[in-house]
Amino acid sequence: MDLGLQGKWALVCAASKGLGRGCAEALVREGANVVVNARGRDALEATAAGLRALNPAVEVRAVAADITSADGRAAALAACPQVDILVNNAGGPPPGDFRDWDRAAWIAALDANMLTPIELIKATVDGMAERGFGRVVNITSGAVKAPIDVLGLSNGARSGLTGFVAGLARQPRLASRNVTINNLLPGPFDTDRLRATMVGAAAKSGRSVDAVMDERRAQNPTRRFGAPDEFGALCAFVCSVHAGYLNGQNLLLDGGAFPGTF
Ligand code: NAP
Repeated sequence: MDLGLQGKWALVCAASKGLGRGCAEALVREGANVVVNARGRDALEATAAGLRALNPAVEVRAVAADITSADGRAAALAACPQVDILVNNAGGPPPGDFRDWDRAAWIAALDANMLTPIELIKATVDGMAERGFGRVVNITSGAVKAPIDVLGLSNGARSGLTGFVAGLARQPRLASRNVTINNLLPGPFDTDRLRATMVGAAAKSGRSVDAVMDERRAQNPTRRFGAPDEFGALCAFVCSVHAGYLNGQNLLLDGGAFPGTF
């Protein structure tokens, strides 16, 4: 299927690794030009080089910046001639007990996982509507649908974004102009972030990291973790010209781990 993305410009935030990188790779394969962002310059430049090698016909620009800062967002937006596709992503908040989180911890989580995507949406969707095409994909978490106890900061901040987006996506001034906003909810995907949480869980339980990872794989109906390119493939389809009627949805990719019928 031709996704119709040739020549479009995508801003993919937090994309030097993991799920963001998977999305950038899928978009580049489909012929979209991309601006990729992350804080660490070396990993970002290596990812940008990999993207250029994947499809030499597209333009790839790398912006090393903290996307949760106003300056970082301005730099990322300035590097993108026009944002046809916006993939919102940032690092997830740390796990812990809510008794230990002060106001600063909550503000940091809200900044990264709620307010930053909203700022970027605000900066881009009206231009998308004027041009008659726009796709916003927010990478949130399966924790929005089934909260994870130790990830209370994530449960809270991402649910705030989800509620906001549910209203915005349905504004006719956007939806009737072929601008869609959807959330992708990852379950366990094999990324640095997942490994870091397993290292933490192993240290806490006194077991090996491999043992913890095997146990987590065994808990999933597929008996494995998701791969970032599987995540990217869905992202590319949601961004495609064929997905204009898919709007305001929360799409869970978790191998069937969520036990509900819907
Ligand atoms: P990852 O492999 O650790 O990659 C995170 C990427 O984001 C890196 O490129 C990182 O680069 C960049 N990044 C982090 N903070 C940033 C910031 N403030 N500004 C710009 N770039 C930033 O993580 P992942 O697994 O892909 O996770 C992506 C998101 O999905 C996270 O919010 C995570 O909580 C969520 N999620 C993941 C899973 C999973 O199983 N993997 C499940 C549910 C939810 P730098 O560090 O160099 O900036």
